[in-house]
Amino acid sequence: MVSQRTLKKQVDLEGIGLHSGRLIRIRLNPSAPGSGVVFVRTDLPGCPEIPAEHQFVVSTQLATTLGYQQVTVGTVEHLLAALQGANIDNVRVELDGPEVPIMDGSAAVFYDAFQKAGIQTQSQARRILALRRKVELKMGEKWAVAEPSSRFEIHGSVEWDHPAIGYQEFHYEEGKTSFDELASARTFGFLKDVENLKKAGLARGGSLENAVVLSDAAVLNPEGLRFSDEFVRHKVLDALGDFKLAGIAIQGFIRLHRAGHDLHRSLLVEIFKNPDHFEIIDGSDARDDAAQEEKSFFRLQTAFTRRFVASF
Ligand SMILES: [Zn+2]
Repeated sequence: MVSQRTLKKQVDLEGIGLHSGRLIRIRLNPSAPGSGVVFVRTDLPGCPEIPAEHQFVVSTQLATTLGYQQVTVGTVEHLLAALQGANIDNVRVELDGPEVPIMDGSAAVFYDAFQKAGIQTQSQARRILALRRKVELKMGEKWAVAEPSSRFEIHGSVEWDHPAIGYQEFHYEEGKTSFDELASARTFGFLKDVENLKKAGLARGGSLENAVVLSDAAVLNPEGLRFSDEFVRHKVLDALGDFKLAGIAIQGFIRLHRAGHDLHRSLLVEIFKNPDHFEIIDGSDARDDAAQEEKSFFRLQTAFTRRFVASF
């Protein structure tokens, strides 16, 4: 049986929010089997909660933002990638501000903290969404293909007409590729975009401390790159984080070209749109007949989400 997992103990971290520029404290608490990943805004009256599920994505501009009514939690993708990398199913993420801190622009700080706290195996089997049909999406030059596989794999490729980037590809296979190959790959941006964002009051916390910044010709960070293909590694890291928003482990092979948060979200919507695209199996690989009956879009939501939506 593949068991669900949570943290062994509480993890406390703090850092600057990329967009707000504010110091934000974040606390991850172990949580019960079946509860999934839930964000809690402890700075707001009533401490509102938002489940980490794709139905709650309200923006994919620059980062993935979750929201419900007036409450939002931004820049969730690197933290979710670290949870995916550590194979953690259930955790309650409290934060006292509007976004997950950017840390060094990668998932390394989160991932290292999870390793240090330790992982607790839980009594319930993990439920898995196994792809059964090919699902394809194309948005201009970007495309995504998801197809059946015996494991969870992501193949990412990028193509940029820039001397530091060019064409790069990276293949991640769960259980085979060490998450250390991806965890420290940083987010990146172009100097001219960063300047425009700052003029618009965005990316206030952005600096060479938390992103790779490129001029038209070169990498501006004095320390250089962490991997020669750090760009595509970060793209695959983002994808791992965004696909955590399926709210269930995925078994399938996802190929992504020039993808970003918008394409990742659209691919999830497309997969969930048609129950013929997938099957829900439990962690022992046995076909779960009760689970098959739950395949319609709304019934697939976790018990938490159903309760959450009903309470508003
Ligand atoms: Zn990213």
